[in-house]
Amino acid sequence: MVNRERLCAEFSRQAAIASPSLREGEISRYLQGRFRELGGDVIVDDAGAAAGSESGNLIVSFPARGRQCEPLMLSVHMDTVEPADGVMPVLESGLFTSAGETVLGADDKAGIAEIVEAFEILRERDLPHGPLEVVVTICEEIGLVGAKLLDYSLIRSRRGLALDTNGVDRIIRKAPCANKLRFEIIGREAHAGISPEQGVSAIAVASRAIDNMRLGRIDEETTANLGTIHGGQASNIVPNRVVVEGEARSHDTEKLVCQTEHMVNCFQQAALQSSIELAGQTVHASVNVEVIGDYPLMQVAEDAGIVQLVRQAGESLGRTIAVEAAGGGSDANIFNGHGIETVILGTGMDRVHSVEERVTVDDMVRVSELLVEIICQA
Ligand SMILES: [Zn+2]
Repeated sequence: MVNRERLCAEFSRQAAIASPSLREGEISRYLQGRFRELGGDVIVDDAGAAAGSESGNLIVSFPARGRQCEPLMLSVHMDTVEPADGVMPVLESGLFTSAGETVLGADDKAGIAEIVEAFEILRERDLPHGPLEVVVTICEEIGLVGAKLLDYSLIRSRRGLALDTNGVDRIIRKAPCANKLRFEIIGREAHAGISPEQGVSAIAVASRAIDNMRLGRIDEETTANLGTIHGGQASNIVPNRVVVEGEARSHDTEKLVCQTEHMVNCFQQAALQSSIELAGQTVHASVNVEVIGDYPLMQVAEDAGIVQLVRQAGESLGRTIAVEAAGGGSDANIFNGHGIETVILGTGMDRVHSVEERVTVDDMVRVSELLVEIICQA
């Protein structure tokens, strides 16, 4: 069913176009043309301007052909991580890698090529299918920016597949929600040798706060981390400012709230407890807290329609589909947050976010076959 040569040629063409986040112009133009050739109606939304990217998100609609059912969304992202410039895909013994010191971009172009091949097969065999929407986002790798800015009024689907993880015959139905946290601790500057008693060390406040904080693996569903710390000016100055950045994640929204509050409390308490008396006045350290909801929870039920659809399509091909949980957020979290019940489908991509990135032709063939089956049973 799958035309291996056509699939390889498609993947090679896409992979050879460098498309790091924000510089998606060329890959976007290529994909617009390619999906139009396949009979899709392509809309580019306004996310590009807001994101500072060369392109917006693509929303490609394919009308139903001889089958009535609810629309199904297939999503992928067109950007890659760096290094991407000068990328040259190499195919050797059924394995795609990059030629040099760049990523291959199989994340997420393996998924895009698999979708294109599935549409080629649908057309070639004149297979009946319901309405389909392909959503190709920008800037996934720099914080799910395209999915967050997507114009959801253009999407009709209430269910979807995001082709964006490793492995094949594998879906992810659960992923955590996350907050980004930033704490700016303000102390009081003073000369460390002449008048240290007139200073409040922001670094000391931070260390007190962190010492009291639960971090790392909080429970089987929740993690937390402080990842950066910047502050101070010189060894002879009591530091008046330090900025600490971190995150918290959980598969339970309430636990995320709880952990976030705990981290905020630790900083606020430490600031309250750090004071000096100056000219009859008490001077406290203070803390400015910023909590940004990074992405919402993704929790698609085990018996949800979209999970059953993939399982049944797998069964028709004699395959067992693994249903798993993930530790990180992706565009699928954002889609679920907007009421589109979306699971993530393995594309065969491997060793992503490294110059060792790779994907086998066999795996891409397997995913294309599964996609056709999913679309025909949707
Ligand atoms: Zn990806």
